Amino acid sequence: MSITHVPVVAPMKKREIENRVHRLLAAVSPKTLESPGPTPMEEIAEFSAPLHLGYSFEPRDLGHALGMMIPGKPPEVLLDLSTYEDLLLEMHRARFTAAHETGHADLHAHQLVDAMVSMRPGQGTLYRRPRRELQAFRDPEWQANYYAGCMLIPGATLLPLLRQGVRDPGQISIIYNTSLEVAEIRLQKLDIQL
Ligand SMILES: [Zn+2]
Repeated sequence: MSITHVPVVAPMKKREIENRVHRLLAAVSPKTLESPGPTPMEEIAEFSAPLHLGYSFEPRDLGHALGMMIPGKPPEVLLDLSTYEDLLLEMHRARFTAAHETGHADLHAHQLVDAMVSMRPGQGTLYRRPRRELQAFRDPEWQANYYAGCMLIPGATLLPLLRQGVRDPGQISIIYNTSLEVAEIRLQKLDIQL
């Protein structure tokens, strides 16, 4: 699904997003930061992240959407029933969707609520811009995608692997149970010095 208009959110650098993911994983799944392996995405998305960050999680029939985050008090993360079933089976796309929506909940839920609360009639358009006009680091979809990459392939365990010479995206995708594409993008966009 392509999204043409998105709300403007606070800009975030890759390093800040990486740190937010690290903070959440340290709290809810510290083992994920100790040795390379698949992030327990179902457990995090359904139970520990909602509990830790204060939002609700629910599988629901969403029609064409794979998942969504609804700002509110509390915010809600919804996964389409088919995405949820695939997540239980640890399918790549569902794991990415769950991580992406967790990213929206962590990064955007509260600022979008605040934006809505502070909106006066006629001002709603202030918060939506065509994606092509947005710089990547202000685009909530870019931020949630980057967040998902960091969550599925945490920097804390990726860097030691890279230093050991494990740099093949295929191998990395197997170690972390991601699609090849996710591993390739993670390696391309990595903002670190080896
Ligand atoms: Zn999104």
